Amino acid sequence: MTIDFHTHVGDFRSRLSDQPRPVTFDGIVRRLDEEGIDAAVLLPVYASPEAIYPSFILEEHMSVRDQVLRAAQYRGRILPFGNLDPRWAGNSPNGDFSAYLDWFASQHCLGIGEITANMPLDDERVINLFRQIGVRGWPVVMHVTGFGLGSYGLQDEPGAPRLERLLRACPDTPIVGHGPGFWAEIGPLPEAAAKSGYPTGPISQEGALPRLLRECPNLYADISAHSGYNALTRDQGYGPQFLEEFQDRLLFGTDVCFSGEAGRMPHLGYLRRLLGEGSLSKEAFEKITGANAIRLLRLPA
Ligand SMILES: [Zn+2]
Repeated sequence: MTIDFHTHVGDFRSRLSDQPRPVTFDGIVRRLDEEGIDAAVLLPVYASPEAIYPSFILEEHMSVRDQVLRAAQYRGRILPFGNLDPRWAGNSPNGDFSAYLDWFASQHCLGIGEITANMPLDDERVINLFRQIGVRGWPVVMHVTGFGLGSYGLQDEPGAPRLERLLRACPDTPIVGHGPGFWAEIGPLPEAAAKSGYPTGPISQEGALPRLLRECPNLYADISAHSGYNALTRDQGYGPQFLEEFQDRLLFGTDVCFSGEAGRMPHLGYLRRLLGEGSLSKEAFEKITGANAIRLLRLPA
């Protein structure tokens, strides 16, 4: 069973004249069929003002509610999450999200995300929301960036001190990290700006990410997008070693943002190649591409 843990529908072009076409529900299912993937987690977009693209103004049926309702027409292939912004529910550290969470539960949502609010990662409002998600037994997917650069995502400093605080403040919430500010921490950062970028080169020393994966059992990582792929492939030797050590906490995902060839991502091909070469065990491959998602989403095996 192969599950793509990170997909969206919508129009992510920065200009309407750009070539790549928007992702549709039918487009996702077609891609899953072509790539031999059984199901995809749908992370509704447009939950936070920082993550609204220009084309959103012209799109119909793109509220979080609409994305969740339309996903229900693809039951079994599309696994919907709900999405929220920590500033909703009164913009208070004690805000009550239960009305939203109840509605998402009634629509068979399996988690919340991806969180894209541009605010400090350990803000009391973030901790408050993440705790309430954990009470439901749901995972939360978040986009992480540095301070200053980057227009969306929860913010942290080099070394991920705020991520550590959030993880320890929400021990019962499975927290799935993603994005440049998350994956750059696979190694030490050469400079602060690298937190919002794609540092390259061999990993001679470990960063905050492997340490936190060892210390915090509620930390998970989805390997989607260029951020995840870059982190795993920047050092051909370290990547497979990382996948093997953290095989219980890693989730295959793509974050495909455009339909057709323009949106194809290399992650599954990379994992399949490592498996074929014998540099990734079958056990690790199966956990990362599906079994971990089944466990986290409490799907029937
Ligand atoms: Zn995404």
